[in-house]
Amino acid sequence: MDWDEFAAWGAKAAEFGAGYHKGLRERPVRPAMAPGRFAARLASVPPEAGEEMGAIWEDFERIVPEGLTHWQHPRFFAYFPANAAPVSMLAEMLVSVLAPQCMLWQTSPVATEMEGVMIDWLRQSLGLPQGFSGVIQDSASSATLSAVLTMRERATGWTGNREGLSAKGRLRIYCSDQVHSSIDRACWVAGIGQENLVKLPTRGAPEFAVDADALRARIAEDRAAGHVPAGIIAVTGATGVGAWDRLPDLVQIARDEGLYLHLDAAWAGSAMICPELRARFWAGVDGCDSIVFNPHKWLGAQFDCSVQFLKDPKSQIDTLKIEPEYLKTSGSEVVNYSEWTIPLGRRFRALKLWFLIRYYGLEGLRSRIRNHVTWAGELCEELRRDGFEIVTEPILSLFTFRGPGDDEAQQALVDAINADGRIYVTQGMHAGRKVIRFQVGQFDCTRDDVMLAATVIRELAGGRT
Ligand SMILES: *Cc1c(COP(=O)(O)O)cnc(C)c1O
Repeated sequence: MDWDEFAAWGAKAAEFGAGYHKGLRERPVRPAMAPGRFAARLASVPPEAGEEMGAIWEDFERIVPEGLTHWQHPRFFAYFPANAAPVSMLAEMLVSVLAPQCMLWQTSPVATEMEGVMIDWLRQSLGLPQGFSGVIQDSASSATLSAVLTMRERATGWTGNREGLSAKGRLRIYCSDQVHSSIDRACWVAGIGQENLVKLPTRGAPEFAVDADALRARIAEDRAAGHVPAGIIAVTGATGVGAWDRLPDLVQIARDEGLYLHLDAAWAGSAMICPELRARFWAGVDGCDSIVFNPHKWLGAQFDCSVQFLKDPKSQIDTLKIEPEYLKTSGSEVVNYSEWTIPLGRRFRALKLWFLIRYYGLEGLRSRIRNHVTWAGELCEELRRDGFEIVTEPILSLFTFRGPGDDEAQQALVDAINADGRIYVTQGMHAGRKVIRFQVGQFDCTRDDVMLAATVIRELAGGRT
C-alpha cells in the first residue's frame, strides 16, 4: 500500500468511526448470540494473492460492526466500562501510525519522558503525595502480578528468581474474599499457589472491608506454623459490589508485620480524581507500596492503559529487571520502563492520557464521574420504588438488585434484558444469591440513557414486582 492510498483509507476509517459512534443508540448493545455465525462468514483459507483494499473494507463493514458487543454504547451498564473518549482514539490512531516500540528510553525517548510526566499528572489528580512514581501497564492483572512477584522476592530475600521456590516454605498473601480473580491468577503464576492466598471474611455492608482482627490473627497463626507472610492485597471498589477495604488498618498491619501492601483500585481509582470522594474510599492510601488503577475503565483513556503507582520502584525493579548485553544502554540517567514490568516490548500509552487530560481538563472528567454517581443513585431509587429488592446500595455508581423470583428468575431476567438489546447488564453472586449488577460509567451516557434502564427492566420483569 502506498502512502497516498494509506491517507485516503485513513480518512475513510475516521469517517466510519464518527458515523459508527453517532449511530450507536440505534444498535442493540449486544449482538444476537449464536456462536459460529461470524466465523462462517470468513474465508476458511488465507488468500494466495493479495486482495483489493476495497474488498477488504466492504467485508469489514458487512461483518464486523454487527458482530460486536458495543462497549462504547451509551447504554452499556455491564461489567465495568472500557471507555474510549474520542480524543483518546485520535491519540491511539497517531500511536498506530508512528508505531514505536517503547521498551527503553533510547528506543523512544519522548514516550518514556511523557509516561513519567503523565504518571505524575495522575498522581496529583488522585491526591497522592509526592514521591510516588509509577509505570503504565497493559492491565491491572499485569500490575498485580508485578506486585505479587515483588512480594515473593522480598519475602525470600531476593532469591526466588534465582533459586526457585521449592525450599522457601509456604509464602502467604492475604486479601478479602471480595477481590478480583486477577489476584488469584497472579498467585497461581507467581508460584505462590491458590492455597497460600488467604481470603479473609469481611465485616459486612456497606464496605465489605476485610476484617482486620481476623487478618492479624491469621498472620500470627501462619508465622507460628512456619509459613512466610509476604504481602497484603487491598481493594478499593471490588468488582462484585464495590467493596472497599479500610486502608489505615491494613497499612498499620503491613508496617507492623513488614509486609508489602498492594492496592487494587482498577475501577474506582478513576473516581478519586474527585476530591470529595477520597475521604470515604481511600483515606490512608499513601501508606500503600503499590497501587493500580485503570484509566481505560472509567476515565476515558482507550484500552489498554493501566497505571501502577509505586512508593519506591526499587523493589519492583530488583524483582523484574534483566539486562542482557543487547538491552544495555549507555548513560545511566534515564528510566527504562521495561525494567519495571513483565513484558519487554511496550506500547506508547502515555499519548492518549496527554490528549485526554488536556482536552477535557480534570473538571470535564470529574463532572462525568459525578453525573454517573448521581444517576446510578436516582435509578436505584426508582427501582426500589417499583418494588425491586436493592441487594447492595450504590457504591460510587455500582449497585445490585433482584427482581421477583428465585436465582433462576434473576438469570432469566438478565438474559431477557440483554436479548432485548436496549441496555446491557450482567449478573453476579452476592452472599450466595444471584444479583443483577448495574453500573453507570459509559463516557457518552446521559441521564435519559440511565433512566431508560428503569423502563426496560420494569417492562421485562413483567410488572411482577
Ligand atoms: C477490571 C478489574 C481488574 C482487572 O483489570 P484488567 O486491567 O482487565 O486486568 C482487577 N481488579 C478490579 C477491581 C477490576 O475492576
